[in-house]
Amino acid sequence: MRLTGLPETAVREDIAAALAEDIPWPRVLNSICTAPHPLAVEAAHAAAHTNLGDVRIFRGTKRIERKVVALLLELLGRPQGAGSLVSGGTEANLLAVLAARQDARAAGRLTEHPEVVVGSTVHFSFDKIFSALGITPVRVPVDDGLRLAPESVEKAVSEHTIAVVATAGSSELGVVDRVDAIAAVLEPHGVWLHVDAATGGFIIPFARELGLPLPQFDFSLDGVRSITIDPHKYGLANVPAGAILFRAQEAYQADSFFLDTPAHTTLLGTRPGSAAMATYAVLEHLGREGFVDVTRTNFENTRYLTGRLAEAGYGLLIEPELNIVVARVPHAAEVSRLLGTRDWIVSTSRRFDDAVRIVVARHVTRDVIDEFIPVLVRADQEIRAEVAAR
Ligand SMILES: *Cc1c(COP(=O)(O)O)cnc(C)c1O
Repeated sequence: MRLTGLPETAVREDIAAALAEDIPWPRVLNSICTAPHPLAVEAAHAAAHTNLGDVRIFRGTKRIERKVVALLLELLGRPQGAGSLVSGGTEANLLAVLAARQDARAAGRLTEHPEVVVGSTVHFSFDKIFSALGITPVRVPVDDGLRLAPESVEKAVSEHTIAVVATAGSSELGVVDRVDAIAAVLEPHGVWLHVDAATGGFIIPFARELGLPLPQFDFSLDGVRSITIDPHKYGLANVPAGAILFRAQEAYQADSFFLDTPAHTTLLGTRPGSAAMATYAVLEHLGREGFVDVTRTNFENTRYLTGRLAEAGYGLLIEPELNIVVARVPHAAEVSRLLGTRDWIVSTSRRFDDAVRIVVARHVTRDVIDEFIPVLVRADQEIRAEVAAR
């Protein structure tokens, strides 16, 4: 640390310079996150000093967190449920697995070797969680549409199973598991079903309202015991805004799993009230109609992108269910690297070779797509020429 501090102007310049190195949103085609809504930024700024780790002080901020949780529970079909705002999908998924383990323990069903049943499309946050908690994942195959197959799930359930995880919108491919069918096969087993809707939670309810053929995935299905939903993705709030929601009140006091005198409902102690305020601002300001409009635009832009890709000769590896497009591009890793040097960020797929993955978030507009397609075509041609010359 400096002995003598810098003047404010110099610090501001440093910060501005660093921020200018970041890729601007209209060039970000790989992220499930987007430019937060301006009102969210304003709310977060106003609440920058708040800490939900001490609710004796931050009473109003806590009231807003409760309100946000109530709004999310209502969105997902369980006004009488419970939940907390957390740092993101990773922490939410961790709390869900902890709650499921606690539930098995309370019911006298927890064995020495607890297992969680997941599909191969499950988010990698679960790898961290299973490793941290000493839980064995039981990976079951996905079907041709890359969805968790209900009959395989049922076969994988054993006396050791503490939970099954279904994904409502995988972040890699935007695939929505048939949560309704999975809930149905699990019903006789009474196994905890967790739905990771970090990506899809703010898309599917509105897309269904628009008439898109997506399955039900929320608490309206009896077997669903917990849901992860991330306001900092398609909810347009700024990071770090995640949420874990539970069907039952008793599941949610995470501290009670470890401490005799629980103080916190999440793993973290000190945590930002700004995220709660930001999420509240967006939910209240947009309302259901606003989110339906945003969702309609995202799907229109997704279709526009697939059309432009087809015109340019790029097919799709999988029909997009949500707003993630996976196009077949030869030498995709090299194309992606070259695009990166030109400040365009796309990603490739771990599952498919020669695939470029593009996330159509709110900032990926028609104008952005029109600008991007020729850039992609040029990068592709350059790489093909380079490969041919080798
Ligand atoms: C983003 C995401 C996560 C992880 O959330 P973080 O906010 O990055 O911690 C987990 N599951 C799914 C399906 C996601 O899309």
